[in-house]
Amino acid sequence: MSQRYPQASTRRRWLGTGAALSTGAVMGCAGPVSADYRPKTPFAVAMTSVPIAGSDQAFPVRRIYCIGRNYAAHSREMGSDPTREPPFFFQKPTDAIQFVRPGTVADHPYPTLTKNYHYEVELVVALGQGGRNVSIERALDLVYGYSLGLDMTRRDLQRAMGDEKKPWEIGKSFDHSAVIGEIHPVVRIGGHFSDGAIWLKVNGTTRQDATLRHMLWSVAEQISKLSEANELFPGDIIYSGTPENVGPVVRGDVIEIHIDRLPNLSVKIV
Ligand code: MN
Repeated sequence: MSQRYPQASTRRRWLGTGAALSTGAVMGCAGPVSADYRPKTPFAVAMTSVPIAGSDQAFPVRRIYCIGRNYAAHSREMGSDPTREPPFFFQKPTDAIQFVRPGTVADHPYPTLTKNYHYEVELVVALGQGGRNVSIERALDLVYGYSLGLDMTRRDLQRAMGDEKKPWEIGKSFDHSAVIGEIHPVVRIGGHFSDGAIWLKVNGTTRQDATLRHMLWSVAEQISKLSEANELFPGDIIYSGTPENVGPVVRGDVIEIHIDRLPNLSVKIV
């Protein structure tokens, strides 16, 4: 198709349900517009994608959602009541992705403005289908695959903003703050994640060590809840929260993270 402008058929897709979009339909654009809509632009903007394990394809990233306080012990250490309050979400900009190839140690730049830069190891869920008001029973059908990653955080700025009842933005949403490994399709890794070790080491010393079983909200519940707030689309990814014992790193530190069934990921803070 050579359609260049969002005329009738595209418009119908905008107004229709997410089901009208097939996997990959958002390849090449950031929103729910058909892939064949390619306007002339005065300059190019890079599309964010993450390589898919065992494939020559890449997973196109539409939005990055992050869930906060999804492990009781981490909720407690952040000064919250660890009762099972509804999960809350924030976003990082899509181009905050830093992809790290397995078997390598990527340089991760220490960001500006902070004196207390924290790691948070997390399971990352990648959606291949969208929907709104998705039931818990159907939620896992939306999952294309999984990865592991770091929700890097300027903790001092996050806390200061929280104290002033201002948005977390500057503490959470900045360049390179969404570290991620390859996307592993569900079929390739033998199913979904509800159990298994999740840990993080700094310079070889274990700092975070927990199990996915301790997530307050399961992956299916996270997807279902999130789909009440926003229509989900293929290409959306979800950082599913970090367990307890988050902490700081400084330049020169090497972080290694692990989730059972996924290859480890390593970065060096520079
Ligand atoms: Mn987090």
